[in-house]
Amino acid sequence: MATTFLRTSPRERTLAMTRRTAIVTGSTSGIGLGIARALASAGHDVTLNGLGDPAEIEATRAVLASDTADVAFHGADMLKPEEIAELVEAIRERFGKVDIVVPNAGIQTVAPIEDFDSARFDLIVAINMAAAWHLAHRTFGAMKAQGWGRFVAVASAHGLVASPYKSAYVMAKHGVVGLRKTLALEGAEHGITANAVCPGYVLTPLVEKQIPETAAARGISEEAVKRDVLLAAQPTKQFVTVEQVAALTAFLCSDAAEQMTGAALPIDGGWTAH
Ligand code: NAD
Repeated sequence: MATTFLRTSPRERTLAMTRRTAIVTGSTSGIGLGIARALASAGHDVTLNGLGDPAEIEATRAVLASDTADVAFHGADMLKPEEIAELVEAIRERFGKVDIVVPNAGIQTVAPIEDFDSARFDLIVAINMAAAWHLAHRTFGAMKAQGWGRFVAVASAHGLVASPYKSAYVMAKHGVVGLRKTLALEGAEHGITANAVCPGYVLTPLVEKQIPETAAARGISEEAVKRDVLLAAQPTKQFVTVEQVAALTAFLCSDAAEQMTGAALPIDGGWTAH
């Protein structure tokens, strides 16, 4: 089995009313890690997930764990629905329940559609879109039974508008943005909210990797990509930060946000105001 579930040091958990159990996929890096940090800081127990060096992941897990938050790791591959099912079961076994689901894992490829690798298209749709459906499929029944749940998908401004050369990503993110509407309706009378956050450009490894690809696709320099392509889309001319996306997501997971559901919230420096 490809998955692992690393336990924190044994400790009695205090079951305060507001202490929730969260899964953030793709939280070994970038935005997901920021969201996991924000949820752990708020006192919620968090299961990390994602790819990476096991020793580095364990170091990250240990830093996030505190007296008020238990932090675990599960290495489920978001390409594999059966591993998503195992992830959910492992969290239930460890923490007793799943309250907060944040599908965040994502990959990107930038290429003209005629040159786009079709195997890569399948991967992008599976990780960025289908995995969110499988997570909801495995968690909604129990959330309904317990009468409380939060589903916050990390979509993108590209779930609301398009850019050239990102056909698979734009398609997948629009799919996730659509999913939150159905989930909001299905959860509305059961204390479950479902929303999507739609960040503009955040300087994470995912974006850093696109810079040379975009430079090649457009035939321009990497500096020109940052200035004229990425930040050209954002009227503030500044990258969004991981911490800003994490704070918005943590708010949506709070009791204060119980009447916010079915929303797709841009956090994009004004990009989608165009
Ligand atoms: P990142 O590359 O830093 O992190 C991606 C995470 O997904 C990593 O933890 C990685 O291990 C994980 N991952 C990749 N494939 C996986 C798989 N098969 N199974 C499990 N985990 C897997 O990227 P990021 O910028 O932090 O992106 C996080 C999310 O935010 C993505 O969904 C991305 O589309 C979205 N987003 C990013 C930006 C941005 O500008 N960075 C903007 C809008 C939306």
